[in-house]
Amino acid sequence: MLAETLNPLAIAQEQFDIAAEMLHLPQQLRGHLRVPQRELCVHFPVKMDDGSTRVYTGFRVQHNLSRGPTKGGIRYHPDLSIDDIRALAMLMTWKCAVSGLPYGGAKGGVVVDPKTLSESEVERLTRRYASEMSLVIGPEKDIPAPDVNTNPQIMAWIMDTVSMHKGYTVPAVVTGKPLNIGGSEGRSDATARGAVYVLSEAARHLSMDLSRARVSVQGFGNAGANTAQMLADFGATVVAVSDSRGGVYNPGGLDIGALQNHKRRTGAVAGFMEADHISNAELLEIDCDILVPAALGYQITEGNAPRVRARLIAEAANAPITPAADRILYDQGCFVLPDVLAGAGGITVSYFEWVQGLQEFFWTEREVHAQLERVMVIAFQNVLRMAQKHRVHMRTAAYMIGVQQVADAVTTRGIYP
Ligand code: NAD
Repeated sequence: MLAETLNPLAIAQEQFDIAAEMLHLPQQLRGHLRVPQRELCVHFPVKMDDGSTRVYTGFRVQHNLSRGPTKGGIRYHPDLSIDDIRALAMLMTWKCAVSGLPYGGAKGGVVVDPKTLSESEVERLTRRYASEMSLVIGPEKDIPAPDVNTNPQIMAWIMDTVSMHKGYTVPAVVTGKPLNIGGSEGRSDATARGAVYVLSEAARHLSMDLSRARVSVQGFGNAGANTAQMLADFGATVVAVSDSRGGVYNPGGLDIGALQNHKRRTGAVAGFMEADHISNAELLEIDCDILVPAALGYQITEGNAPRVRARLIAEAANAPITPAADRILYDQGCFVLPDVLAGAGGITVSYFEWVQGLQEFFWTEREVHAQLERVMVIAFQNVLRMAQKHRVHMRTAAYMIGVQQVADAVTTRGIYP
C-alpha cells in the first residue's frame, strides 16, 4: 500500500473530492473549485540592521471570489511553501461558507523565521510585503488577518502601509488590528472562544461533562493558550500542553495562568515546575478526553491516529488531521470537530471587525461574544444534522455544506464572459 501523501494541496483536494462526490457535483464545477483563482508570488529585498540586504519570498493566494471578497491569515514560517498557502486558502473558502460569512478564502505568508529577526527588521519586512501585496488586497477585495507568527502589531503595520499608499486611513484592509486603530473587542481570543462554544455543543451531544474533562492542547500561542485557559476556567483539567520546543504534562492538571507567565518569561512551556517533560508526539497520544490541536498542520496521520486516545478532538489549528487519519479516528469512535467549524471563531470576529470598520460603529465585547456564539452554535447544528443525515463524519459534513454554498454561488453567477 502507498504511504499517504502529506502534500498540503493534495490533502485539501482529497477532502474536497470526498465532499464533491457525496454532493454529486458536476465535473466542470469540481475542476473549477479544486484550484485557486489567483496567486501572487513576490521576491523582495529587506534592509537588515547590520546594513546588509536579504531577499525574502512571500505569497498571497485567493481561492474563490464568488461569495464576496476573500479573507484569510498571514503566516510567517521558514518552511512555508506555495502549496501550504494554496491548501490553506482553499480551506478558508469552506470555513467562511460553513459559518455563512460573505467571503471567499485566501491565505498569505512569508518564508521567514521572525524569531531570528529584530523588531525593526520584522517591521521593514512586513511593510515591504504589504506594499507588494497592495496590488491584490483591500477592504472590498481581500482582507488579511493574523495567523502563525503574526499578531495585531503586524496587522497595524500592514494597515498603515496600505493607508500611506492611499493617502487616507483604510482600517478595513486588515482585521485582528489593535483596538486603538479600529480592532474589535473580542478578536484576540476569538479563535479559542469559538472552539470552546462548539466544544460545549459537542460535549452536550456526546453526554460528556466539560467541567470534568481531561484536556490536552498542542500549541500554546493565540489559539492554544486561550483555549487552554478558557477550558480551565470551565473547570476542565488541562493535563498537557506543548509548543514548538516540546510539552509539559501533569495528570493532576496544569495551572494555565502560571504556565502563561512561565512562557512569557522563558519563551517556552518546557521547564515549567510541577510537570513532566513530554514530546509533541507523546502529547497527541496522552490519555485524555479532549484533544485540541492548535499548532501546525498534518500532526495526526495514519501513523499515529491509532494511538490517539481522546474521545473528542477540536481542530483549532488548520488541517492538523490527514484524510487517512480521519477515517481511523472515525472508526475508533472519536468525534472530530473539523477546522472549518471549530477554528471559525477567529474569522467570524474578523468579519465583525470588518463590518464595524466599514460602518465606523463599534460593538461592546458582550455583543461580540453573543453574536459569535450564535454563529458557532448554528454552524455546529447544521454540520451535525448533515453528518447524521448522510452518516458521514463531521469534516465531510462540514465540507458538504461549504462546498455546496460555493457551488451554488458559482452556478447562480454563471461563467464570464
Ligand atoms: P501562534 O503563532 O500564536 O501560535 C502557534 C503555536 O504553535 C506556538 O505556541 C508555537 O510554539 C506552536 N508550535 C509551532 N510549531 C509547533 C510544533 N511543531 N509542535 C507543537 N507546537 C508548535 O499561532 P496561532 O494564531 O495560535 O495559530 C495556531 C493554529 O491555529 C494555526 O494552524 C492557525 O492557522 C490556526 N488558526 C489561527 C487563527 C487566529 O485567529 N490566530 C484562526 C484560525 C485558525
